[in-house]
Amino acid sequence: MPYRLFLGTILLIFILQACKSPEKIVAPASNELRPAKNIILLIGDGMGLPQISAALYSNNNKLNLEQFSIIGFHKPYSSSDLITDSAAGATAFACGVKTYNGSIGMTQDTVPCTTILEELESRGYATGLIASSTIVHATPASFIAHQPLRVFYEAIAADILNVDVDLLIGGGKRYFERREDDERDLYEELRQKGYIVSDYYKEELKDINPTTKRPFVYFTADKHPLTHAAGRDYLPGATSFAISFLERRSDQGFFLMVEGSQIDWGGHSNDGGLLVEEAIDFDQVVGEALRYAKRDGETLVLVTGDHESGGLAINPGSQMNKLQLAFTTNGHTAAMVPVFAYGPSAELFSGIYENTEVHNKMKLALGIHDETTSSSK
Ligand SMILES: [Zn+2]
Repeated sequence: MPYRLFLGTILLIFILQACKSPEKIVAPASNELRPAKNIILLIGDGMGLPQISAALYSNNNKLNLEQFSIIGFHKPYSSSDLITDSAAGATAFACGVKTYNGSIGMTQDTVPCTTILEELESRGYATGLIASSTIVHATPASFIAHQPLRVFYEAIAADILNVDVDLLIGGGKRYFERREDDERDLYEELRQKGYIVSDYYKEELKDINPTTKRPFVYFTADKHPLTHAAGRDYLPGATSFAISFLERRSDQGFFLMVEGSQIDWGGHSNDGGLLVEEAIDFDQVVGEALRYAKRDGETLVLVTGDHESGGLAINPGSQMNKLQLAFTTNGHTAAMVPVFAYGPSAELFSGIYENTEVHNKMKLALGIHDETTSSSK
């Protein structure tokens, strides 16, 4: 009967209303997140869930990544392609915009976007970039340069001198020192700007103890650094060095991005051994960052990838520490990528969200609110 149904509905609404005790209604969801002072953003290039799983099962079922309890997923597609490249992927993290594949720190309309590194630098934070590729490669470049195409390595190197970054460690010395596009010697220009500049050819990074009164650049190779298997071993040590260097450079706080660049190259070459070794090396970086953050208590550590590479599968027949790895492509895939967060405001990073949200959440975690509408620079 419609009338009875009506009465029943009224009654139900009444009961539901009555059940809401006044004290319970408000229940303010705890938006009172503790702000972070520092951010360490660790990007495993090409590190999706299969890469993490392969590293875990190739490393006696143990990774530093297991220490995280806040985990989310980001959607890595770019504005031009469902399958992103590292330039668009890193620009999404750096600027909070979806852009086209190949773009370095530019919107899809090729307008330069202010990166989180640039914004924090202008706010007095100490900033740093470390990579196991050249420092002008897509991921680090997207945090500090603005170029329409990722292959403009010399232009990217020149852009770096426009930013007062505190620390750079990575390969690519030739793009600074022996340039083909112009006669500039950026190695020398960095020095004149006040940087302590050194490189692999002169001395080992672990033998240097530079004053924190001056910013620091160290080139680990002329072009790309070696694979870990071939002897590259600086990434975890450079990370702990950078943390203690940057924390002394500013009372405001610091922002450090470290890229495990060559996990991706294992995916591209369908080389499971390379991929696993690079991912395990990168996990050592995670360990260094967490060790500091646990002691410090004011540092937000984020670990993610920009995209998955290779369409990696751990096939039947695999055993612990003896995996049967297979690939579906020499390129990247569109799979969502995990985000691990530890420290103040880490809670922001649970759930499923766009890759651009990583940028927004980092700013939220630092308590920075956008007053600026435009961001050209
Ligand atoms: Zn790639």
